[in-house]
Amino acid sequence: MREEYSKLINQDNFSFVDLSNIVNAFSTGDMSEDKMRNWIEKIYYKGMSVKESANYTQAIINSGVKLDFSELPGMVVDKHSTGGVGDKVSLILGPLLAAYGCYVPMIVGRSLGHTGGTLDKLESIPGYKPYLELEDFKKNIKNVGVSIMGQTKDICPADKKIYALRDKMNMIDSYPLICGSIMGKKIAEGIQGLVLDIKTGNGAFMNTLEKASKLGELLKKIGELNGLKVEVAITDMNQPLGQFSGIGCEVSESMESLKGNGPKDLMDIVFYLAMRIISVFKNDIKIKDLESLISSGDAFNKFILMVEAHGGSIREFERMEYQNPKFRYSIRSKTDGYLESFDTKKIGEKLSTIGAGRLGNSDGIDCYSGLRMYKKISDSVIKDEPIIEFYCSSEKKINNLSMEIDSLFKVSKDKCDAPALIY
Ligand code: URA
Repeated sequence: MREEYSKLINQDNFSFVDLSNIVNAFSTGDMSEDKMRNWIEKIYYKGMSVKESANYTQAIINSGVKLDFSELPGMVVDKHSTGGVGDKVSLILGPLLAAYGCYVPMIVGRSLGHTGGTLDKLESIPGYKPYLELEDFKKNIKNVGVSIMGQTKDICPADKKIYALRDKMNMIDSYPLICGSIMGKKIAEGIQGLVLDIKTGNGAFMNTLEKASKLGELLKKIGELNGLKVEVAITDMNQPLGQFSGIGCEVSESMESLKGNGPKDLMDIVFYLAMRIISVFKNDIKIKDLESLISSGDAFNKFILMVEAHGGSIREFERMEYQNPKFRYSIRSKTDGYLESFDTKKIGEKLSTIGAGRLGNSDGIDCYSGLRMYKKISDSVIKDEPIIEFYCSSEKKINNLSMEIDSLFKVSKDKCDAPALIY
């Protein structure tokens, strides 16, 4: 272990050169995991200034390649969500923005904790390649307008290693390190504009409006200091978004949404985020311009072209019938009344254990795992009506789930209001 790293990590303030040295030394293996643990712990408790966070983000970007789409004639934009249950917005928004004429190089993650991951969902499409060579990714952006893939060794490799260590240390939850990780990958995509969908509520990592706003402000500042236009939206995660949550069933719901049959809450968020990011560059955008891209089939066509460009087959996907799983389990209301609330985090955790994530599930992703919501907050319910129906292809897992299920929702005798969708 090199002595100078002890001095470096124990400083009170870090310059850009210091942060680059720390990031590079750990990334190349020159700095030990123990030393990096000490530094992460220090930042976790002490935090960083905005300037340090921006410099850390730059150091993360510099550990890999930064894409350049400046030769393309349209807006190069993306969206990032801090994660939730049933959050399939990227699968609809990406193709919609491409149909409008934007270029969307979207790098996404896998399921994290109780939240679903876009990459796991896309892999339910037979043949879909989740990782592409950068040249192929760039070709897709130019030819199709949208391509969604996972983080490869070329994009912020230092983040991959540091993120894995933070996860192992149970120290994901640090504003500057989250900023470096999220904004590093987004800035490395070579985009001009980014809309952030910060989820808040009992199914979100940022479970209060205050925490969500604080993260949004910092992400925006870091993006802007790195030359990116950033729009921040704070949206509700007090109940799963849309009608389906899970793996294949979310992709089916996204395809239906792109065909014009999307649930209102989901489509309201999709259109809102699209409007926010496009209007940064083009202030005469109207929501009906976007609606017509759905009704004309143009947005769905972009989705098909993207799937084909990744080697996937929509026909094979349809044969899988993900909305028709082998095993189901319905949770019913015990009384008449009104749906007052969901325990969204617990719903996400249950989903994960039956194969929609990796929490309490060592068997890997089950593309049939998921759930269907029959009711949303404020709906009236009748005794014995199904509220949530879980899907799975393992009889054992669905049986375990049925034995463990406790209160995932509350029914009240009195009428209650639906939460705001956009804060
Ligand atoms: N997602 C990321 O990519 N990085 C974080 O640090 C947290 C969530």
